[in-house]
Amino acid sequence: MWAPCAAKLRDCWAASSLILSRCLSLGVSMAKSKFEYVRAFEADDTCLPHCWVVVRLDGRNFHRFAEKHNFAKPNDSRALHLMTKCAQRVMEELEDIVIAYGQSDEYSFVFKRKSNWFKRRASKFMTLVASQFASSYVFYWQDYFEDQPLLYPPGFDGRVVVYPSNKTLKDYLSWRQADCHINNLYNTVFWALIQQSGLTPVQAQERLQGTLAADKNEILFSQFNINYNNEPLMYRKGTLLIWQEVCEVTVKEVKLPAEMKGEKMAVTKSRAKPVPLYCDIIGDAFWKEHPEILEEDS
Ligand SMILES: [Mg+2]
Repeated sequence: MWAPCAAKLRDCWAASSLILSRCLSLGVSMAKSKFEYVRAFEADDTCLPHCWVVVRLDGRNFHRFAEKHNFAKPNDSRALHLMTKCAQRVMEELEDIVIAYGQSDEYSFVFKRKSNWFKRRASKFMTLVASQFASSYVFYWQDYFEDQPLLYPPGFDGRVVVYPSNKTLKDYLSWRQADCHINNLYNTVFWALIQQSGLTPVQAQERLQGTLAADKNEILFSQFNINYNNEPLMYRKGTLLIWQEVCEVTVKEVKLPAEMKGEKMAVTKSRAKPVPLYCDIIGDAFWKEHPEILEEDS
């Protein structure tokens, strides 16, 4: 009975001494190798403590990507909803994201001021957000573009910016929403001139040169009978994702006394989910309605 055990022990010992001798012959010590010093070349990219960390992704060469995949102009709701699906997945998979904002081919993710996820290393935040987002984009593509195959893999660049106060964070998000408004107003008129008035892109561009927002609204209204304020909120305001408690009803087979065996019951569960909102974030109303988002500022 003991003999096989002793034989096994002997084999084990022989194997580990073989590994040890191989390590020694390679100049590798078990604890640290002589190559260990190269670690010191890694840059310290820890984000400043107590600051909001924002990761913004932007589609790489999406002008071409939109052309190749026949995106509708000026807005393709399938593409915008797919972006939001990816952002929701990022928020669910990664930790400490309190709010996200997206428009066009970009999305910004805001991490908690006190997050200590991956020791606040900027490169970890950025690469995890970008890779999770990009893989989700491919993964969910077919759910949104049923008749349009994905022709090549899309890419997203990322950047990390830290904001030291609630004011600077709110101003950052306001900046992105103002950008959404400016671009969407321009694109709405630009494409109306092309699609409805038959102008070439160059002619449409010339027509809009030097025009102010009021002029663009006027062209839309007088020439195309479009009231810009009635355009969909998602196009005009972009998409905001915040955590909200959502009730989910699932039908489950529950284990009950014998006479009720196999009964199915609807089970309601409440769960926090990233929920899309299409609203103004430049004014104070949104922040007053959702004080919990910035409450950490004490
Ligand atoms: Mg972009």
